[in-house]
Amino acid sequence: MKDENFLKANNAQHMWHPMTSPADSLANPPRIITKGSGVRITDIDGHETIDAVGGLWNVNLGFSNTAVKEAISNQLDELPYYSTFRGTSNDQVIELSYMLGEFFKPDGLTRSFFTSGGSDSVEVMLRLARQYHKIKGESGRTKFLSLKKGYHGTHMGGASINGNANFRTQYEPLMAGCYHIPAPYTYRNPFNETDPEKLAQLCLQALEDEIAFQGANTIAAFIMEPVLGAGGVIPPHPGFLPAVREICSRNGILLLLDEVITAYGRLGSWSGARHFGVKPDMIATAKAITNGYYPFGATMISDTVAEVFESDQTAAANIASGYTYSGHPVGAAAAVACLKETLRLNVKDNAAARGTQMFEGVQALMAKHDIIGDIRGGVGLMTAMELIGDKDKKAPLDKARIAKFYEATYAAGTMVRVSGPNVIISPSLVIEQADVTKILADLDHGLSQA
Ligand code: PMP
Repeated sequence: MKDENFLKANNAQHMWHPMTSPADSLANPPRIITKGSGVRITDIDGHETIDAVGGLWNVNLGFSNTAVKEAISNQLDELPYYSTFRGTSNDQVIELSYMLGEFFKPDGLTRSFFTSGGSDSVEVMLRLARQYHKIKGESGRTKFLSLKKGYHGTHMGGASINGNANFRTQYEPLMAGCYHIPAPYTYRNPFNETDPEKLAQLCLQALEDEIAFQGANTIAAFIMEPVLGAGGVIPPHPGFLPAVREICSRNGILLLLDEVITAYGRLGSWSGARHFGVKPDMIATAKAITNGYYPFGATMISDTVAEVFESDQTAAANIASGYTYSGHPVGAAAAVACLKETLRLNVKDNAAARGTQMFEGVQALMAKHDIIGDIRGGVGLMTAMELIGDKDKKAPLDKARIAKFYEATYAAGTMVRVSGPNVIISPSLVIEQADVTKILADLDHGLSQA
């Protein structure tokens, strides 16, 4: 490794960071992370912390899974790359598509289309949704509906359906024909409704109204995350998604789930679709498909949608989308190994148990610390605390105090992710009870220092 001064100077001089303003990055240089082991990371100063973010909600199996590392290394020896464009395939990607077909069969999805990550998987869903309607002769169905507060990656399509102004305004004008419905976010919503069930009804009515306003026969799809992630961990009322499914089916609108965070066990279920008991038309996955060991993603397609494509011999059904790295053999080998490990370790059950411990723990913290305005989670290992400066006005805690919280928590031994006023806690799904206890103690310490 190069020396610390070289790294710091060159990071400042040559690197722009995602989701960061270059000026801010210069003023507050990033921590340089040098090692990951189990559920822990170490920075260049040798300070070790529990990674309560789980990478970026993706390192579900932790940082030292031997089976995954071996699979990648073996595949690099066998075949480091070949394309899966028309005419060629590879053994790893075929095994993976078989395994994913089995994994998502209960959700009604058995076809895979491979990508390089979450934003790609979302983009593919949007493209396939429009194409599906065109093949069926309903070329007027081009619009997309999604939730405010939703996050769907950074491609232009994803940014257009994104429901958070922070990820949109810099890049407008975005794709035409995208409209947003209020999210079932009890702490802040335009209806001032705090009851989750009543709020779900109001949001569903807003969806019905928007469909009527736009005209159902102009809408291609509705897209949402089963539990909103980057928007601050917003789990909808359990009845919300099944009702959305019914509304979509009744109106000929496809239901697309963005499961980039939620698939593969994070919710304490194998998928958000299964968690909420719905069968979507497509889902976008990435992140834990390879647990951060390799950039990779997959869009899963339902049997019903697949049949429309597969029974059409014309150019209309040609999938004119794809990436150089679609079905990359090393990524596929990593994904096969990750899926085997995910199932062998049955990570969903640990996510459910540790998620309950985490959620009970943050409830206790809320009773103790006034700066916690809201806590959300209780669905596996997706938890958030919203920090506020004033309980009545719900004003976000000021940035300097949030920074103090973050630094003190890190110094105590836990890395969390802060996004606006939200503290996101999404550790690896293999985390043990004692480590969750330590995260909660470190959060307690950080909150007392803010
Ligand atoms: N959708 C959701 C729900 C996500 O959380 C993310 C990433 N945080 C994406 C899409 C984009 O994935 P990627 O960063 O791999 O492109």
